[in-house]
Amino acid sequence: MRKKIPNFEELKKMKFKRCKICGAPLTVAKLREWKSDGLITNIMQIAIWRVRTTNIFLMEVDDCENLFRRLKERIGEKPIQRIFEGAKAHSCETIYQCYPKIMQPFFRLMMKLGEPTRIVNFSFVKSMPIAGNGIYRVLEYVLGKKMVVEALKETIFDVPLVSGDMLCLFYLAERLNGAKKDIPLKVSWKEKAESVVFTIEYGRESKGVQEYLPIRKFNFLPGNRTFERCPVCGVPKAISENYEWVDEKWWIIEKKTGKRIFSTCFEAINRVTDALAQELGENLYQMIMEIEKDYRKKYFSQHPDYKNLKNDEESYREKLEVFPQRGMGNPVRIEKQKKNLLVRIDNIYSSPLAAGWILSLYEHIEKREAEIEYTPNLEAGEKGFAIFKVSPKIF
Ligand SMILES: [Zn+2]
Repeated sequence: MRKKIPNFEELKKMKFKRCKICGAPLTVAKLREWKSDGLITNIMQIAIWRVRTTNIFLMEVDDCENLFRRLKERIGEKPIQRIFEGAKAHSCETIYQCYPKIMQPFFRLMMKLGEPTRIVNFSFVKSMPIAGNGIYRVLEYVLGKKMVVEALKETIFDVPLVSGDMLCLFYLAERLNGAKKDIPLKVSWKEKAESVVFTIEYGRESKGVQEYLPIRKFNFLPGNRTFERCPVCGVPKAISENYEWVDEKWWIIEKKTGKRIFSTCFEAINRVTDALAQELGENLYQMIMEIEKDYRKKYFSQHPDYKNLKNDEESYREKLEVFPQRGMGNPVRIEKQKKNLLVRIDNIYSSPLAAGWILSLYEHIEKREAEIEYTPNLEAGEKGFAIFKVSPKIF
């Protein structure tokens, strides 16, 4: 009989089936879609349905860790953690709204007929390896009650962040299974020698997700960007050339820098930053912008593709191609007017993070200090685009 729960040794030995031409895992080709509007969309395959669910973007693990570490230094650990968990939980409902209602009866039937632990494990093993977040297995799933997940310590990163992801997955599974909105959930974890065990359960005292913030609407604009794609699997060439999916760890590595990359939801990052800003003030966005600017300064100086760049429009055009590749938005206008740079990005993932990136790129290329003005994050989400204006700093 097939074992219900795979062990870590078995999971580590799993190998991606890869495209013979470009080497990208076939699950990446199947479950991720790089679109003409600058977004990467998650695909959920259920029987004959290929359902588009959430938008994700790629981010360096150390960028994310650095961001939250530095925010904690400035604001304190506790408020960050509390708001972070709440925001993360809340983003689940936003994500849930993306799932077509037609899936629900099938999901319910599956869960009813099968063993939930086995079913959830199966979908984990199918979809988690390409997210780059490390190796997980579901130890126990009890419908309407709890989920226990074990993560292999050497393969995961920031534990509180992972706990948020696990909470989100439990929330989604419960909602798909018919649970009402606003489920009060709590998450806890125990560290063992080689793993971390997360328990997500219904809790009376914890806040329901609806109490945090109203659901934020994003406006997405169509685009006409094209990618040079692999003729066999359809994954953009820039992706298989620049990123490697690592078998034994369920990691994604950026080949030229060796940096570890993970994928996270568009909605989640905005929910976290919006919640922080609502409580701590708009100045929070400025902090995020500055932290990202510092991070990119180091990144550009270490990346071989960012050496000896000309300070013309073409360089900016070429370097901002990374935005649609990573699902961070669609640069539709890039203009260099004398010493100023004007950029418009549609479907922007986060305007303060993007502002830090663009400002740092400008300073790297022009070799001078500069300032940036940009569309505030909420406004950018509502409009579907953000404008960035960079100009040299006047002393
Ligand atoms: Zn291919």
